[in-house]
Amino acid sequence: MPPSQLCVILGDQLSIDISSLKSADRQKSIILLAELLDETSYVKHHKKKIVLVLSAMRHFAKTLQEQGWTVRYVTLDDPENTHNFTDEVARAVADLGIDEIIITQAGEYRVQQQIDSWQTEMGCAVRCLQDDRFFATLDDFAHWADGRKQLRMEYFYRSMRLKYNVLMEAEHPVGGQWNYDHDNRKAPDRTISIPPHLQFTPDDITSDVITLVSNRFADHFGDIDPFFLAVTAEQAEQVLHHFIAERLVNFGQFQDAMLTDEPFMFHAHIGFYLNCGLLSPINAVRQAERAYFEANAPLNAVEGFIRQILGWREYVRGLYWYHMPDYKSLNFLSAERDLPAFFWHGQTDMFCLSQTIGQTKTYAYAHHIQRLMVIGNFALLAGLSPEQVNEWFMIVYADAYEWVELPNVSGMVLYADGGIMASKPYAAGGSYIDRMSDYCRSCRYKVKQKTGEDACPFNYLYWHFLDKHGALLSQNPRIGMMYRTWSKMAEERKNEIRNSANHFLNKLI
Ligand code: SF4
Repeated sequence: MPPSQLCVILGDQLSIDISSLKSADRQKSIILLAELLDETSYVKHHKKKIVLVLSAMRHFAKTLQEQGWTVRYVTLDDPENTHNFTDEVARAVADLGIDEIIITQAGEYRVQQQIDSWQTEMGCAVRCLQDDRFFATLDDFAHWADGRKQLRMEYFYRSMRLKYNVLMEAEHPVGGQWNYDHDNRKAPDRTISIPPHLQFTPDDITSDVITLVSNRFADHFGDIDPFFLAVTAEQAEQVLHHFIAERLVNFGQFQDAMLTDEPFMFHAHIGFYLNCGLLSPINAVRQAERAYFEANAPLNAVEGFIRQILGWREYVRGLYWYHMPDYKSLNFLSAERDLPAFFWHGQTDMFCLSQTIGQTKTYAYAHHIQRLMVIGNFALLAGLSPEQVNEWFMIVYADAYEWVELPNVSGMVLYADGGIMASKPYAAGGSYIDRMSDYCRSCRYKVKQKTGEDACPFNYLYWHFLDKHGALLSQNPRIGMMYRTWSKMAEERKNEIRNSANHFLNKLI
């Protein structure tokens, strides 16, 4: 029987139990996966991210074939490849005489817009199914959000804990508290050994992709070597198990800590796999919960990990779809400064930034405090353009997809949404980085010095930021105390701060 259904799988839908595959008829369907220049290069993704996604796609296609599916796999080098998503689907529909397209809803707005045009453009039925790999549907989030004055993650998270009965005892959170963050802010400790992360040797499929990406994307940011990432669901599952067995126990207390040349600390770094579909978030939450109930990990660590997935990840997705497309153009603080060149090469005297950007270049990864309180804090205080900062985060991190990247950067990092997500801008001086890392001892700047050539730039940039945005922020009760401190400073001191900040910012290119 010739195929009459086309089941389209995107590069971030590499889940064997995804709704499109569950709905497709194995006898009537052909599965389409396509490697597209439009997707690898609409922003010039980190080379490691392209290797990860293309290798995972090729492995996924192989698994589907082994399970009896018929697969139409279009490689990057296929001379017939149009490199456009809609055009590749249209080509398959025309070649195969397809009556119906089945697809799971896209993660990103721009892709969903293409899908929404297919029925009219291609003249065949399109069945677009909910993405049930998430706990909450988009309607669930909208239902929670409608009519609320503020959309705070904490309350959404609590509703999810209750609804899915995660870390609950009847109606109450296990341990009596919803959130154990106060236990999760320990300064780094060099005496505790950090277990090495799990590494996989590239197989023939991955080696071919590495050669392809080295040749085709040489001008993209980042290093391919070392390439050790998981590229199959089985390997991703091993990464999760390794984290739960070796790192989860210390993940909580050192969640915000940063150490020189320790890019992974006690973090799980499973976002790579959750976000392309190799790993199930529901499975990750349940396995971590079990580790607590079996007394293999403390509650502060398990709750913190679960909050990242059941709370934060679900919340940012909901928020993204609730506010798109307008969210993308928000710029509440009118930040317009261009991204400095060191964001691409990491060569700056600010040691915290050179460490974080250097690791980003090598691993396509930095952990959340490096992203938020080092790079993000700098971008916020220096007034960098949200459009450029968003593009940079999309390019450099292998776990970045717009639905998760945009709210994190525009909302949490840059306060560009004016407080839709965060109750205040996450701005801090150098003392925060000094407390949570060992970076400052290797830096040419002095973290305790507030103004002048040798002062830590975060110190004067912090007050300069508050001064500059007083009209917009001084009434915010969460930072009112800082404005009272600023108002009590002598005018001469304020001018020293303004001069140091302007001198630094004027040299920033
Ligand atoms: Fe970063 Fe300032 Fe510390 Fe240097 S002194 S590492 S710039 S926080």
